[in-house]
Amino acid sequence: MSVWDEVVGQQRVSQTLQEAAQSREAMTHAWLLTGPPGSGRSIAARAFAAALQCERVDEPGCGVCSGCTMTLHGSHPDVTVLATDRVTITIDEVRHLVGLASRSPGEGRWRIIIVEDADRMPERTSNVLLKAIEEPPARTVWILCAPSPQDVVVTIRSRCRTLTLKIPAAEEIADLLVRRDNLPYAAALEAARASQHHIGLARRLARDAEARDRRTNVLRLAGELRGVGDAVLAAAELMELAANEAAAMTEERDAKEKTELLRTLGAEEGTRLPPALRAQVRQLEEDQKRRATRAQRDMLDRMMTDLLSLYRDVLLTQFGAQVPLINTTHGELIEKMAQERSADGTIQCMDAISTARERLAGNVTPLLALEAMLIALRPQRAA
Ligand SMILES: [Zn+2]
Repeated sequence: MSVWDEVVGQQRVSQTLQEAAQSREAMTHAWLLTGPPGSGRSIAARAFAAALQCERVDEPGCGVCSGCTMTLHGSHPDVTVLATDRVTITIDEVRHLVGLASRSPGEGRWRIIIVEDADRMPERTSNVLLKAIEEPPARTVWILCAPSPQDVVVTIRSRCRTLTLKIPAAEEIADLLVRRDNLPYAAALEAARASQHHIGLARRLARDAEARDRRTNVLRLAGELRGVGDAVLAAAELMELAANEAAAMTEERDAKEKTELLRTLGAEEGTRLPPALRAQVRQLEEDQKRRATRAQRDMLDRMMTDLLSLYRDVLLTQFGAQVPLINTTHGELIEKMAQERSADGTIQCMDAISTARERLAGNVTPLLALEAMLIALRPQRAA
């Protein structure tokens, strides 16, 4: 098992990174890994970091030495990962990283800093980072991740070696889920398609029946719309589904973080904390609340993507195109919806969903954006 096994469908990128880790001396000090969400940017970044710390010189990234395993488990003292749940990375966070970057590595070969969402840096923050990247210490490597090179300011981009990940094929994702998570192939493939090739989501859909049910409910809601009243009810239901899904995703982590913090502070859960420590707990709770809000917003956007995939399948069916459906298990619903409207009508539905997505991103009240969308999704030729 090597660290590259989990970098799915990216032979070219893996090879480049592996060669860089092997060459050791002529090192590029700033890398930019780009690719759409779910393509495995942060997985590739961690695999590269592990390979750089690997003890095997001939084939770096063995996956079993302490350099590899500590990096992959997030416990290597010379590897720092900045993954933010906020909309932007703060200037203080970057200053802290720049400070770390100036230090020599302790145990490892390299001091490595991974910034998972480098696209979330405002310009002033980017400038702080730029200075550090312009004059990198000899043993420091920066690995920045972003959806596309254009998402990072040009001054930083031009200092980095950019590698672009491609969207992995559904079959490649399914293979990974079988190999790594012991999931049955058919379920893994179905989930990979339904997730539209998003590795993390595919895993979740394949493993979690409730997540699958929630997705099915979203598609079913669209199929059952008739009157305006249905649309208004459906909008409320979508909001609730998004809230539940977001809660399911954040609750477990929230509880674990709080237990860990209390343990670090030397306090028992349920007992009264001294005032000096309460501020820390409050800070954590605020962070978690912010994360929950973002998770719910992301989930609504995900639902829009799921709905778009449904209407895409409906349109392909109306055209009789011989292309595999994304929603393979919803053939009956797709057939029914294809008969209820014209191809033009289907395209109008897709436009309505895209508009709703833009409105949600632009801070329109989510419920209003959803109601307007669902009203537009009703079939014109409803019986
Ligand atoms: Zn190793």
